[in-house]
Amino acid sequence: MIHHDVIVVGGGLSGLRAAIEAKRAGVDVAILSQVHPGRSHSGQAQGGINAALGNHPDGRDDNREKHAFDTVKGGDFLVDQDCAVQMAEDAPRVIYEMDHWGCPFSRFEDGTIAQRPFGGAGFPRCCYGADKTGHYLLHTLVEQAYRLQVKMYVEQYVASLIVHEGVCQGVVAYDMIRGGFEAFTANAVVIATGGAGRTYSNTTNSLISTGCGMFMAYHAGVPLKDMEFVQFHPTGLYTTQILMTEGARGEGGYLINDKGERFMEKYAPKFMELAPRDITARSIQIEINEGRGIGGKGYVHLDLRHLGAEKILERLPGIRDLAIHFEGVDPIEEPIPVVPSQHYWMGGIDTDVNGATVMPGLYAAGECACVSVHGANRLGGNSLLETIVFGRRAGAEVVRYLETLTDRRPNARSAFAAAQMMEQKVEELGVREGKENAYELRAVMTEVMKDHFFLFRDEAAMREGLERLLQVKERVKNINLRWTGSVFNVDMIRTVELEGMVDLALCVAVGALERQESRGAHFRTDYNTRDDLNWLKHTLAYYQPDAAGPRLDSKPVTLGHFELQERKY
Ligand SMILES: Cc1cc2nc3c(=O)[nH]c(=O)nc-3n(C[C@H](O)[C@H](O)[C@H](O)COP(=O)(O)OP(=O)(O)OC[C@H]3O[C@@H](n4cnc5c(N)ncnc54)[C@H](O)[C@@H]3O)c2cc1C
Repeated sequence: MIHHDVIVVGGGLSGLRAAIEAKRAGVDVAILSQVHPGRSHSGQAQGGINAALGNHPDGRDDNREKHAFDTVKGGDFLVDQDCAVQMAEDAPRVIYEMDHWGCPFSRFEDGTIAQRPFGGAGFPRCCYGADKTGHYLLHTLVEQAYRLQVKMYVEQYVASLIVHEGVCQGVVAYDMIRGGFEAFTANAVVIATGGAGRTYSNTTNSLISTGCGMFMAYHAGVPLKDMEFVQFHPTGLYTTQILMTEGARGEGGYLINDKGERFMEKYAPKFMELAPRDITARSIQIEINEGRGIGGKGYVHLDLRHLGAEKILERLPGIRDLAIHFEGVDPIEEPIPVVPSQHYWMGGIDTDVNGATVMPGLYAAGECACVSVHGANRLGGNSLLETIVFGRRAGAEVVRYLETLTDRRPNARSAFAAAQMMEQKVEELGVREGKENAYELRAVMTEVMKDHFFLFRDEAAMREGLERLLQVKERVKNINLRWTGSVFNVDMIRTVELEGMVDLALCVAVGALERQESRGAHFRTDYNTRDDLNWLKHTLAYYQPDAAGPRLDSKPVTLGHFELQERKY
């Protein structure tokens, strides 16, 4: 059994930033991560991070209030407005902090941090480092964590929480290198495990974005919030769904249909290609569904050719490489085939503005959390911002929490029992007679999510999807674990996490069926308008061990800063 004051699960931007904040306050903090922190999904982020710095010549009138308003409107007013105001307020400070820590942001001629236009924003406020912003931010924080000597346990798969008398006191982790489960006790745990994109087959997300932290918290009794709101990015590569950043449109790229039209003119005449993602993704899908995909096929074109080779090579070199290697298309010469693809999880572990959950000792930050600053639709550039702003806030809150504790000794018996339970569970999986295969079932689940809970939803299709998910949940009970070796058993990890992923999928399904309106990314063809009278509220999903799906509840949205209005772009 290993003990630290604070354990952070996940070494992406949010986990690193939380750990750095706690460590700077003198707390003994350790990060546990399935992969080396520098390989977290944060490193894939391309386009940029928002802050109202007003550096761009067209952005001089920008300010924090306007950033907060764009965020609230972008989220179709399901955003907790106090949280959006706080994020916009903290944004310039965290950007300058990253700058001072050595993050190589792109620059304007006058030496200020460069900013580009992004979707749904009234001003060019997205700070970037070419099209590798996430990589630069992540490595800057990895360096800081090393400098501060934050303890890192890498290739540790966290499988469950240790909860003693309703208080979180650590985690149980599978040591991938040495084999076996170990209890890590702590006085506080911060979950920072990222999104759950891998529950969809058509996703831009990394293989490890499986929502582990969300279902661990959910299974321990903490509610998940607004899970029906899943973001579909307008431009994934046609054959692999690898992301083509919104920055490509921010730099002036066009979306073109088979008739050669910039079709966004019909859907968002003012913002055009830089309308919020939900609107742009649906517009693309309408073009495809109505036969105006390129050559009648299931994609449209992202055309960058008019930007010229110099601009593409300077601002979008990574996009060009990806298009060449994965789609066989050089954007300098040819337009890129793109399709809407699952991208981001607006919902997640219900937290307050400092990352605290309802369970004492348990905190969450980043994509796995729902603060909520994205409401029904996240604006591009606001997620990287969220990870750093709320990672930092969660780290600070944990330090305050530790100061209130009188007894700092986690219960060893509970910790030991939790580790033993995981050992037993895996042993049972290995000797089961079941005939089901985890990979086949995962494929069924991810296709159901793509086919039934994608851009356009309706009662009949969702009911059918729910039925199919319930069947998957039954079949998961009969999975037979093929490989039972103790070292680097990825087979075991994929099997154990499938159960949790199906539960997350069920939260999406049940929440989406329940919400009889269209708001942001949740669009129902049978209830195609926003209904503030009945649905201006957050959905809370609670785990029910004895039932197939979640119990739903709701809680009010925090208003007070901005008036509700119709969303037009
Ligand atoms: C391709 C792509 C491009 C993007 N571009 C942008 C952009 O330009 N701007 C923007 O604002 N947002 C962007 N986003 C979104 C943004 O990058 C993510 O939401 C954000 O980086 C998530 O950070 P995180 O810290 O929450 O988690 P991640 O960076 O996903 O890190 C999760 C960490 O948790 C660990 N982990 C997970 N499960 C376990 C477990 N069971 N046990 C132990 N460790 C575990 C992983 O090892 C990893 O270290 C993009 C997302 C993608 C996929």
